[in-house]
Amino acid sequence: MESVKRLICMLLAFLCIGGCRNRQTLTEQQPQEPQQSTKIEVDNAPSNHVPSETEEPEPVLPLAEKIICVDPGHEVTSQRVQEPISPHSNATKEAFVGGASGRNQTEEQLNLAVGLRLQVLLEEQGAKVIMTRTTHESDMTSYKRAQMANENHSDLCIRIHADGSSDASVYGMSMLVPYGDQLASQDIVQPSQAAGECVLNAALAATGAKNNGIVQRSDLTGFNFAEVPTILIEMGFLSNPDEDARMETEEYRDKLAQGICNGIIDYFASVSDNQ
Ligand SMILES: [Zn+2]
Repeated sequence: MESVKRLICMLLAFLCIGGCRNRQTLTEQQPQEPQQSTKIEVDNAPSNHVPSETEEPEPVLPLAEKIICVDPGHEVTSQRVQEPISPHSNATKEAFVGGASGRNQTEEQLNLAVGLRLQVLLEEQGAKVIMTRTTHESDMTSYKRAQMANENHSDLCIRIHADGSSDASVYGMSMLVPYGDQLASQDIVQPSQAAGECVLNAALAATGAKNNGIVQRSDLTGFNFAEVPTILIEMGFLSNPDEDARMETEEYRDKLAQGICNGIIDYFASVSDNQ
């Protein structure tokens, strides 16, 4: 009898262990089920994915990853502030000077209109654009604008201006570039010159304006505090009635912005060619 009892006990124990083991296996498997189904979906995703032509990788835009500071010159302000001319001297000058005037437009208005157009065009080409101002009113001195371009690690800063002269017969487009011993950084001279040539040539081509060439300047706060390549386009003379009238039109402002944008693309293409 004892041996029969022992046999029954062993059988019960075996059944219990087996049953527990089975249950254990079940509880172990249960949480795995959703994982398995998730995994199956993931595994199946590529095989179910039919690539279409519209899903091809997007082409890299010409100004992708470029940071460009657009600085529409002048502003509307009642402030009177002095600003330094260069990091190498204590001399200061009036920060807010009015700029030129045309018959129906001020230079500040024209510069902003072209600057805002340029912002859109540059962003369409993939650039990150830093605007020194987007409104007529502003307290941004040339010193602050240069700092803004520097602090944002701009690859290029384009300053947008128009000219004025006491001689109404003078007209045409020119490009100012940094030069001289008042600069914070001599490293900007060569790339600024190269960018200035590209942008002037492309803006001339887009507008048909008269070429007044490239002018090196050592007296501009916005150049002397620049630590990134910086150029200044003088788009035309507001004091010349014909050029002033042209620069009033939407069509010509579009051409100016498109020309500047084309020149910036040309400049960065030439930089990457040289590397
Ligand atoms: Zn100006």
